[in-house]
Amino acid sequence: MDKLSDRLLSMAPSATLAMSAKSAELKAQGIDVINMSVGEPDFNTPDAIKDAAKKAIDDNITRYSPVPGYADLKKAIAAKLLRENSLEYAPSQIVVSSGAKHCIANAIMALVNPGDEVIIPAPYWVSYPQLATLAGGVPVHIPATIDNDFKITPAQLEAAITPRTRLIILCSPCNPTGSIYSREELNALAEVILAHERIIVISDEIYEHLNYSGAHASIATCPGMKERTAIVNGVSKAYAMTGWRIGFIAAPEWIAKGCSLLQGQFTSGPCSVSQMAAIAAWNGDQQCVETMRRAFQRRRDLIVKLAREIPGLEVNVPQGAFYLFPKCSSYFGRKCAECETAGPWSGRTIENSTDFAMFLLEVGHVATVSGDAFGSPECFRMSYALSDDNITEALKRISKALELLS
Ligand code: PMP
Ligand code: GLU
Repeated sequence: MDKLSDRLLSMAPSATLAMSAKSAELKAQGIDVINMSVGEPDFNTPDAIKDAAKKAIDDNITRYSPVPGYADLKKAIAAKLLRENSLEYAPSQIVVSSGAKHCIANAIMALVNPGDEVIIPAPYWVSYPQLATLAGGVPVHIPATIDNDFKITPAQLEAAITPRTRLIILCSPCNPTGSIYSREELNALAEVILAHERIIVISDEIYEHLNYSGAHASIATCPGMKERTAIVNGVSKAYAMTGWRIGFIAAPEWIAKGCSLLQGQFTSGPCSVSQMAAIAAWNGDQQCVETMRRAFQRRRDLIVKLAREIPGLEVNVPQGAFYLFPKCSSYFGRKCAECETAGPWSGRTIENSTDFAMFLLEVGHVATVSGDAFGSPECFRMSYALSDDNITEALKRISKALELLS
């Protein structure tokens, strides 16, 4: 009787959210944990955006919205795409959903038939393979390692494509690695994709504005790719609005229609008040985005410097997002000293990345996420969306904990 559907039996919980919950649990027990697990800006939502939401409540914008979002919001998104990405989309090609995660879920459900292959470069964001599997798709991973800055090559992509390939999910700037594909690199991948008629790209651009290397490039701007691409973006990261739950898809109309059809049965339109806040975000002064970007860049520089001082970690310089994804496999097989400071790990061996992250949590009191969840079992992820002081203290704790391993 008490058995969930088969489709849920193979689903793993979001590892990022799970680790964050674990960190909150320890905090509730009075343990001073620094949470580098979940990735969300530590800034408050800018005042002008909050004011728009307050006004929306007072104006009684509190009823169902059209399923794909308010017309004014779709207009603001179309203007954003033109202004920032030089891409022209009609409102009928845009669907607003309850966060970028919801947009990705909609698009996958709308496009994938059972048995279809979904190419997901690894390291990948934790939810992609879970959602692809939920839709009956078969995730196909292309390994990208630190030696190639965690990016896939056109030759790797070509080799992974089969007649069953339906989707490719690209994320640039990437969670968890911070890697960014340049326009030239995207053009080269596009050339491979365009040679195969059936393939659509979901381009997750949620970290567009957290870019420390120059202008953002969307694969939809590569010649011939706009008809093959569903762009996913939202307000969560750029405007520090993770709790408001607003994301959008901009895609060929037939895909947008599919997402809207699904959304009409699953959730209806997203939160009316949040939509009004999102209009203020996209139409308002963009200085807040640049101020936060600069703060993240400074923190990126700080965490890279501190992590490189820890022996045994291999660290690339992430060009975007707010994650560091060091290789930590040199610690696998090492044993923890038998001592009181090592707590539950006294005398125990670190076998893998999950052990490594648990060790950092239980001994160092720093919550991170194991690379296993991202398809890169030799690495672990730290979010540096924290104050400089917390970053410095966290890296000090990690360094001290790792000294117990020999
Ligand atoms: N894509 C990536 C790569 C992310 O890191 C996140 C944040 N968890 C999302 C999508 C989802 O963002 P949202 O909060 O808008 O659902
Ligand atoms: N972007 C965040 C992360 O990857 C959010 C957590 C989630 O939605 O899974 O940590």
